[in-house]
Amino acid sequence: MHMDEDRAWIAFASRDRDADGRFVVAVRSTGIYCRPSCPARRPARDKVAFYKDAADAKAAGYRSCRRCHPDAVARDATAVARAAAMLARDGAVPLDRLAQAVGYAPHHFHRLFKRATGVTPAAYARALRSGRAIAALAAENSVTEAIYAAGHDAPSRFYAADAPRLGMSPSAWRHGGRGETIRWTMIATGMGPLLFATTARGPCRIALGEDGAALAARFPAATIRPGDAVLHDLAERVVTLAECPARSDLPPDIRATAFQEAIWQALRTIPPGTPCRHAERAASAGGAD
Ligand SMILES: [Zn+2]
Repeated sequence: MHMDEDRAWIAFASRDRDADGRFVVAVRSTGIYCRPSCPARRPARDKVAFYKDAADAKAAGYRSCRRCHPDAVARDATAVARAAAMLARDGAVPLDRLAQAVGYAPHHFHRLFKRATGVTPAAYARALRSGRAIAALAAENSVTEAIYAAGHDAPSRFYAADAPRLGMSPSAWRHGGRGETIRWTMIATGMGPLLFATTARGPCRIALGEDGAALAARFPAATIRPGDAVLHDLAERVVTLAECPARSDLPPDIRATAFQEAIWQALRTIPPGTPCRHAERAASAGGAD
């Protein structure tokens, strides 16, 4: 078996939920195997064996733990990934239909999805639609066309849900950030470097896998400036608030969408008047210097 057993042991010893689905831990004295996050007391290291999955542990003669249900891990992750794919394909699907489609009770599935991704199925669907609307802004001929292309029934939905995430008017966005000054910083996250960019109005781009160059390419008509320590501290704080238990056995695109959405949600929990407004002031003050 190819597995870094030292790292596996550290994950098991710290009950790391992120490791669930990556391997199982079998305890020789009890004949039971567990998911890495099992709440049960930890045996001595020389009493455990690591297997890549439940099937391997079973083949070696172990039974599944009744406390942590290691066999359910893969099934849960598959259900969450299938539901996320369904939301991407069909737009907002009501919870009961979504849960039924993947074979779970609605309430249970809601909790499971939230625990696995850090956001609810409805928030996940909103994040996808928001992403589509923003992508359409640059691609379609007008703001109105973009709104309908993204799947909104009415412009009012777009202005309530997506437009506040632009950090500028939809028209300025369509025109490469014309007239805007954008400050940006990079934050290290559990999912890699994250771009956090804001105008004087508020954040305009929060994206994994993008950087200052990507920002400049997206907004060729804007003035792009590196952010100061105030902006960096704010971004770091928001990202820490959002640091969600997104499970590593989910596809990276699902985790990225959910994580970015969790960051937008965390931004809303920051009381207006304090750090968020600081960033806005810093951005506008910076625009003048
Ligand atoms: Zn267990």
